Amino acid sequence: MKRFLILLAIVALVGCQEAPRQAKYVFFFIGDGMGLAQVAAAEAYLSNSNGDLGFDALNFSRFPVLGTITTYSASNWITCSSAAGTALATGTKTTNGMLGVTPDTVALKAITYKIKEAGYKVGVSSTVTLDHATPGAFYANAASRNDYYTIATQLPETGFDFFGGGGFILPEGRRKDQVRVTDLIEQAGYKIAYGMDDFRQLSSTDKLVLLQDETRDFMGALPYAIDRREGDMTHADIVSAAIEFLENEKGFFLMSESGRIDWACHSNDGKTSILETLDLHQAVQVAMEFAQKHPEETLIIVTADHETGGMALGWESQYNMYFDQLEEQKASKDILLQSGDDKAGEIVVEINRRARIGWTTSAHTGIPVPVYAMGTNSELFMGRMDNTDIPKKICEAMGVDF
Ligand SMILES: [Zn+2]
Repeated sequence: MKRFLILLAIVALVGCQEAPRQAKYVFFFIGDGMGLAQVAAAEAYLSNSNGDLGFDALNFSRFPVLGTITTYSASNWITCSSAAGTALATGTKTTNGMLGVTPDTVALKAITYKIKEAGYKVGVSSTVTLDHATPGAFYANAASRNDYYTIATQLPETGFDFFGGGGFILPEGRRKDQVRVTDLIEQAGYKIAYGMDDFRQLSSTDKLVLLQDETRDFMGALPYAIDRREGDMTHADIVSAAIEFLENEKGFFLMSESGRIDWACHSNDGKTSILETLDLHQAVQVAMEFAQKHPEETLIIVTADHETGGMALGWESQYNMYFDQLEEQKASKDILLQSGDDKAGEIVVEINRRARIGWTTSAHTGIPVPVYAMGTNSELFMGRMDNTDIPKKICEAMGVDF
């Protein structure tokens, strides 16, 4: 009798067990070049603006789950963005300079394809161009990350639901017989919206590419936050549009890159990097507001592909920082140089020196980068990981076969 009752209890328990929770809405933010120093500098800058000595947490640095990822590539201790993007998109390391392929150039399948096949809607976006390394890793295969036209022509073949970004580096290709990328996109049944006003007036469509309406910065990227003018499309705008477009009963996955933290740090431009990181914070805020409406079904992950610049809070044997010194900088070093201000380089170096923001390189570094996560199955992203673990964990969180 006792044995029978135990058996009955076990049957009852098993019967009551809930189905495993799945993340139905997943936001995957990648701050290109955003190491812990870039996040800490933005926090300290905020704190200083409020008249305090300390670190005011960003929305994502306050997420309950914190992990780290190692970022080395198959060929180098220090990864480039295409090898790092490939690892984050496919779970396989490759040689620096390669995109979505193994070191011996065999094409890899990004998780975006697997997630799409599982019935979710899929979006890929960036604040730089859509043929750049990080967004490219989530839909394209190319032996060289510099084959921009080859990468872009694969976008319309994906069937993914949403793309958003600055534009394309080589929209017309290099040869005369090559078809414009935007023509290929429209031929594949996508509508293209140029800017947010155009997006709002859009008639219904199944597949959308959102591009900025006016390219006024180099390489087709969205302007830096520090250089932004009224009406410029922002990262937060792209995330809002993506949500509006992708929300559906089955769920969605959005990879959204903040691509210019990296560019600012290549230029060793502290203030521009800080404002880009705060801009990512604004974009994540849009996702967090969505999560508040769908708390049981949303997962938000914020990480980086690598650190850029060897940025440090501290320079030259000093024990203090002087963030007020950044106030006099009103534009990015890149745009000042582009507009013919030859002294801009020296001035920005001097401002960083006075603020005591240190730099060790104009390239990337090999230090691990942070992973912040909140929401459904976010505990999967806890602790020490490798960049190749991330796409596997995203699939696990969504109940998608990797
Ligand atoms: Zn870079």
